[in-house]
Amino acid sequence: MATTAGTGSELIDIGDFTDDALGAGKGLAVLTSGGDAQGMNAAVRGVVRTALHLGAEVHAVYEGYQGLVDGGDLIKRLDWDDVARILHRGGTMIGTFRSKDFREREGRLKAAAHLVDRGIDRLVVIGGDGSLSGLDLFRQEWAGLLAELVERDRITVEQADAHPALMIAGLVGSIDNDLVGTDMTIGADSALHRIVEAIDALASTAASHQRSFVVEVMGRHCGYLTLMSAIAGGCDYALIPENPPADGWQDRMCAELRRGRAAGRRDSIVAVAEGAQDREGRPITADMVRAIIEEQLHEDTRVTILGHVQRGGRPSAYDRWASTWLGYAAAHEVLSATADTEGKVIGLRGDRVVAVPLVQAVERTREVPQRIEEGDYAGAMALRGGSFTEMVRVFRDLSEPPTVEPRHDATARRIGILHAGGLAPGMNTAARAAVRLGIERGHTMLGIRGGFPGLRDGHVRELSWGDVEGWTATGGADLGIRRTVPPMEQLYAIGRSLERAEIDALMVIGGWNAYQATWTLWSERERYPAFDIPLLCVPASIDNNLPGSDLAIGADTALNVIVESIDRIKQSAAATRRCFVVETMGRHCGFLALMGGIAGGAERVYLHEDGLSLQELAEDAATMARAFGDGRELWLAVRNECVSENYSTHFLAQLFAQESGGRFDVREAVLGHLQQGGDPSPFDRILATRLAAHGIDLLDRELAAGARGAHYVGLVEGTVTQSPIASMREESDLVHRRPRHQWWLALRPVLAAMSSPDAQARVEVTRGESRRHAVNRGDAE
Ligand code: ADP
Repeated sequence: MATTAGTGSELIDIGDFTDDALGAGKGLAVLTSGGDAQGMNAAVRGVVRTALHLGAEVHAVYEGYQGLVDGGDLIKRLDWDDVARILHRGGTMIGTFRSKDFREREGRLKAAAHLVDRGIDRLVVIGGDGSLSGLDLFRQEWAGLLAELVERDRITVEQADAHPALMIAGLVGSIDNDLVGTDMTIGADSALHRIVEAIDALASTAASHQRSFVVEVMGRHCGYLTLMSAIAGGCDYALIPENPPADGWQDRMCAELRRGRAAGRRDSIVAVAEGAQDREGRPITADMVRAIIEEQLHEDTRVTILGHVQRGGRPSAYDRWASTWLGYAAAHEVLSATADTEGKVIGLRGDRVVAVPLVQAVERTREVPQRIEEGDYAGAMALRGGSFTEMVRVFRDLSEPPTVEPRHDATARRIGILHAGGLAPGMNTAARAAVRLGIERGHTMLGIRGGFPGLRDGHVRELSWGDVEGWTATGGADLGIRRTVPPMEQLYAIGRSLERAEIDALMVIGGWNAYQATWTLWSERERYPAFDIPLLCVPASIDNNLPGSDLAIGADTALNVIVESIDRIKQSAAATRRCFVVETMGRHCGFLALMGGIAGGAERVYLHEDGLSLQELAEDAATMARAFGDGRELWLAVRNECVSENYSTHFLAQLFAQESGGRFDVREAVLGHLQQGGDPSPFDRILATRLAAHGIDLLDRELAAGARGAHYVGLVEGTVTQSPIASMREESDLVHRRPRHQWWLALRPVLAAMSSPDAQARVEVTRGESRRHAVNRGDAE
């Protein structure tokens, strides 16, 4: 999700990567440096496999820059299988180090010699801003270093001439999400998982004892993890370095905690960033906060310092698919670079891979702590970007209990909220945010129970600030949900219900049917004046098949469930030779199948968007049989549930079993409703909060202006925006119930590159977009 700013970034279009022989005759090395982060392995695997796929000679440098300085066995040539079975592991399999030697020119001289010895002049580094600035320095010095090595007779003139420049690409591995210029750094999402799991756990014990907890979160100069986990964890108060509290914050914080209890909270949780400070630059520690709460509220207060737990554990689904994509793009970038290509950092901006000039990204990143040090907090916040600032405001509005009861006078507006469509984790989070933010603006918030049938039957009740307490973290939909799109004959009853409940605006949180129902209400306004009110859809669907939003609430949680399930399924196959056919939900939208396949390390993914022929299946069966014959132990195929009416998951499994020739067995796993369950992931909680906040702002403006627009909100290229509901028909493939443009289809070649070194790729260039359908030969994991 986009929370950082940056200017001057240059977009790399994934469609440009069409040269399959880009790596021929080129030597590339990859290393990880600085603090470790979950997802570094996925990035290393992405770089290595893509570069091999493109025909390059690939090396890993072990122990960060120290491995470059020391050379020897620390620089190893890698093959396809060397990066197998690492996608799901935390940390970095090639080790990381903070190398003092590399900071010295003498160290870099040795490093250059070790690279030249092996014919390597392309380097991908995955690390923080320190590692990346070291990388750029190395690039700038390269020619001088080689000249000196020639002078010292360490390398020959021919060797130096063969490598006139060092071509580089940086990937940001840092749990802090502190690099200006990319939305998310590798590891930040997994760290949020760890923090939010801990906050959820603390919240349940804190609520039992009516206790307060102070949680210290990593981030010396960056409040991202603290702010986002405070939003996702439903905390009461957050202290971050970029936005220090004004004088008297101690009393205000305690007053807020007191009001929260009065409004229905049973616990209080304060999140404190490691680098939190007041406006004079004096540190605010977790222990200080504890002492203040104990003194003013006379309440048992405990401090939890999360520490290195935040770096640990399995990478999240996002940190697997996004890092794989980044590794794929970095390999392309560095293999297509020429001697005068400027060093770039490859990052994600919304739904795109972008390349940002490395020097500029590092400089702007380093400006943030400088601004904080100088007391220029507005400047520090501006560098963090518009959505970071927006989330600071949203958190304040959400966490501050109301000082006044909702107005019940003629100026008060009444906003109804309901869920429709299939269940998506995060619906509760969105409803909670809408209710609290609506109340904060003085509106009366009405919960409609049981979707549109509930509205028809008048199941409408006012919700207070305290009624939605605890909804941040829970899956399901406490307001109830129905898939029903109201038929024409029920519209009159629904209209009457809206009038009886005096509903001035309606927010519908849900999936395709929610959109369709809202569209119906909007299009029947002339006949039913009750529908002539502001209407708003908030996208919530694990299928991620809604127009106007790159991601819908719930899709990330479902992806995490899929990836966890695949991890377990793979483990279950220990010591056997087995093919798994895993079926994911998604209706006619292949998002879950493709992204789950990439994040889970699948060899083959079957998408409705691609279609499926018997010939392809026969080729896959033959490829699989060959791969198992060559010693392969596992093959993973992911099938979208609606890819084909007749070639069912069972059919695929039987076909592969029949063709196995006894070399392997085949199991099918239909993940089913597991994918709709579970508590929402941190990303889904943040997305739900952001979209609901934008929705309430929009309804608020419409109501104030007497306007009656009908919209859907969404996340587009990292920014929350809205579209008129009238555009739903243009933006959607109504037959298959999915958006016409699906950004994630650009990741099909990424899967192809990961699944086999000799994938026979068929490249179709359609309107500048590369579409590569691979007939994979095995070995993804
Ligand atoms: P991070 O990359 O996580 O910000 P550090 O700042 O500790 O972590 O940098 C990691 C490593 O990168 C350092 O130990 C050093 O080897 C290398 N490095 C950092 N800055 C420089 C520099 N200015 N010149 C050369 N190497 C550097």
